Amino acid sequence: MKVLKFGGTSVGQPSRMREVASIVTAQKGPKIVVLSALSGTTNSLVKIGEDISKGNHDSASIEIEALYTHYLDFHEKLVKKENSRSKAQYVIHEHFGFIRSLLKVEFNENYTKELLAQGELMSTKLFSIYLEEIGYRNVLLPALDFMAINSNDEPDMDFIQSRLKNLLGLHTGNELFITQGYICLNYEQKIDNLKRGGSDYTASLVGAAINAEIVQIWTDIDGMHNNDPRMVEKTKPVAELSFDEASELAYFGAKILHPSSILPAKQYNVPVQLKNTLDPEAYGTMISGLEKSKEIKAIAAKDGITAIKIKSSRMLLAYGFLRNIFEVFEKYKTPIDMITTSEVAVSLTIDDDSRLPEIIEDLKMLGRVMIDTDQSIICMVGNDVVEEKGIIKKIFDALEKVPIRMISYGGSKYNVSVLTESKYKKQALNALNKGLFGL
Ligand code: ADP
Ligand code: ASP
Ligand code: MG
Repeated sequence: MKVLKFGGTSVGQPSRMREVASIVTAQKGPKIVVLSALSGTTNSLVKIGEDISKGNHDSASIEIEALYTHYLDFHEKLVKKENSRSKAQYVIHEHFGFIRSLLKVEFNENYTKELLAQGELMSTKLFSIYLEEIGYRNVLLPALDFMAINSNDEPDMDFIQSRLKNLLGLHTGNELFITQGYICLNYEQKIDNLKRGGSDYTASLVGAAINAEIVQIWTDIDGMHNNDPRMVEKTKPVAELSFDEASELAYFGAKILHPSSILPAKQYNVPVQLKNTLDPEAYGTMISGLEKSKEIKAIAAKDGITAIKIKSSRMLLAYGFLRNIFEVFEKYKTPIDMITTSEVAVSLTIDDDSRLPEIIEDLKMLGRVMIDTDQSIICMVGNDVVEEKGIIKKIFDALEKVPIRMISYGGSKYNVSVLTESKYKKQALNALNKGLFGL
């Protein structure tokens, strides 16, 4: 069994969705197709949710009707037969009926999550109707029947595995399954999601759960590039990456992959291939357990980082100091990304600042606290990169004109990271592109 995931831009226009159907049907053997919402839909649903919760019902209503018109237009261009059109209209009316009803309820967090789920629910149903129209029998597997997260927001792998197995068992003889990316049930059995960009994570979790032969992630670019193509003009695709390299790049900001999406594939040793819907012949990137060359393969950057410095005059010999600091972050369930220490101070970074006020209050008991917001981590990734002689000199030479706030080297054998103010990110990425890749 293969898993094929298509992102928002890949299904964002009727012509693109038809192209996806030909990519899917050209591949032999059984497969599960994971779809995102049509591009722009989730952003629009987020806006609608924000407007409703702020009481801006007029603005929400305008956004809802614009999205509704977009879907009506979409279905007309996607399907041609009368029968398919009425099925598609039924789907659109049903989901927009729900969305409009939210203008009349006491809106809360659960409704927000349910609202956000509408995009994937509609895209998969419309795709299924189109496939049927062109003669391909297919089965819709509702993600809400098998994709679940636990009370720590972590995937419940046992549940996913057993439910998927049962569901697939109900449809023996079928080879083409379609399911929603991104959406799931939480431990309270309420609709939830795997965070923005989460369809990649769904694909990897499904691939791991059924021990798929491969997970293909189809998007709008020919694989993982050596640098962020939105920031740097000359970038090139990287043909092969190990799970660990891809994982670091995803975690540290390479938007092509959801930050957690490589972990399940790595754990179950399922190769992940990144492919371009706009150029299906392009090789893309193959991510597997193979660790090949040692050079730096790619650079990624993660924004919205907050640096926290805790200064204590008593750190020397104060062996409980670090533990006390870590306990504060544990208490507020806030992961630390980078950390450096000196005799009198510890600097660390977080990307989730939702509990920052409480964290600062607690840290103040341990020393003087200084905060720098709007920072970016720039992460250079490659197998055994820390063993490559001269690498630090190359990095420092390239970053000669960029003020660096922190450096992390040796924490993992796969990456070297630096922290800089976000306003220097573009300059840093371009300088590194030249210095490390000669591009
Ligand atoms: P999808 O909608 O298919 O999930 P995304 O927009 O989430 O697509 O991811 C694809 C985009 O990721 C690309 O269009 C590109 O702009 C961006 N991106 C950022 N960093 C990289 C990188 N290192 N390699 C490739 N794409 C990247
Ligand atoms: N539709 C969701 C989002 O836009 C999930 C995804 O596209 O992967 O974040
Ligand atoms: Mg994405």
